[in-house]
Amino acid sequence: MPKQKWKSVEEAREIILSQVVPVRETERVSLRGALGRILAADVAAPFNVPGFDNSAMDGYACRAADLSENSETALRESGRVFAGANSPAAAGENECVRIMTGARIPAGADIVVPQEETRAENGNIFIAAAARKKGIHIRRAGEDLRADETALAAGTLLGAAEIGLLASLGMAEVAVKRKVRAAFFSTGDELKSLGDALRLGEIYDSNRHTIFAMLKRMNIAALDLGAVADSPEELARTMDAAKACADVVIATGGASVGEADFIRPVLAERGEVLFWKVAMRPGRPLAYGKLGGADFFGLPGNPVSVMVCFYQFVRAALWKRAGRAGDFLPPQFFAAAAAPFKKSPGRTEYQRGILRARPGGGWEVHPTGGQGSGILSSMVRANCFVVLEEPRGAVAAGETVAVQLFEGLV
Ligand code: AMP
Ligand code: MG
Repeated sequence: MPKQKWKSVEEAREIILSQVVPVRETERVSLRGALGRILAADVAAPFNVPGFDNSAMDGYACRAADLSENSETALRESGRVFAGANSPAAAGENECVRIMTGARIPAGADIVVPQEETRAENGNIFIAAAARKKGIHIRRAGEDLRADETALAAGTLLGAAEIGLLASLGMAEVAVKRKVRAAFFSTGDELKSLGDALRLGEIYDSNRHTIFAMLKRMNIAALDLGAVADSPEELARTMDAAKACADVVIATGGASVGEADFIRPVLAERGEVLFWKVAMRPGRPLAYGKLGGADFFGLPGNPVSVMVCFYQFVRAALWKRAGRAGDFLPPQFFAAAAAPFKKSPGRTEYQRGILRARPGGGWEVHPTGGQGSGILSSMVRANCFVVLEEPRGAVAAGETVAVQLFEGLV
């Protein structure tokens, strides 16, 4: 195996994204079944949304020209219109129509005065002098979406807002990209499956379960190929099986230079190794290559490294493969270090942190303590990664650091 220079995190990501090819096949699914899927083609609005001018408030629809700005105006109530009624009353001169939110604006009316700006007395409706200046409270036809306008672009990840928007366009079905298939396996003679008794020196295989969970959350079809012994023959057999059924293959363990680490040589033999050293912590060694048409990731065996590598590299590859548009990097923002963070220059570090709102405003991030790559409880205690850039040294309390929150919204 030729010697290789360490890749920076950015270089590694660039190589991966330049190699990954999005899936082409599409399928039609029910609207609710489309949650978490990737839209296959642009969706144009078949009609204006809203389809008609309607009231943004409960109140009275009338003619703005009738309203005095110096004193109250008395108007005669000529009718009522509720949301859903399709033949609303008209507002003539010095008349008003009682209107509910979402109801069509009556002919003649060009303003809705909210209920709070009015009072009823002796059969008349009195409109406050200031009402006209406070806005017209009409939602215009097409102000959300115009007919034929692209409502959602191909490559959009469909979340709750997108599902609602498609429903507002009357779409009961939608074309999405087929699901990406990811095969995964762990390697190591020490690994036992759940339900087996442990002998001294053995551990339960937790990585396969973490990987399953991370894939599931991304709506990727997860194919579990089991735990494989530290044997080149078995690894070769497993890689061939994975290549035949998956778009992306993820292995954990055995990617290092220990005597039982066979991932790299076997990948070189069955496919192609593009890099296997990334200047990061935790997470080295990380192997990336191709197994036929599949993207192959050889992650380190340590459970925290598995999660860090997945979120910093595999996730982006999966999103690109799935056909998602955008740069897919975990959103990152800045917070103040609440305590010192240990760090030496030379590698990008992904430490586990606890982000808290400061009582006075702003955010601060606390270290979780033990940062060993085998300490999975540090991921459980944490709610964010603290990203410390490659050239950076020790961080003092009060310095600004980048954080990536674990939890997403919508
Ligand atoms: P390796 O990368 O194979 O040298 O493994 C590094 C460390 O991670 C060792 O302590 C392994 O026992 C541990 N490890 C490897 N695979 C797994 C797994 N599937 N589940 C839990 N720990 C693992
Ligand atoms: Mg091992």
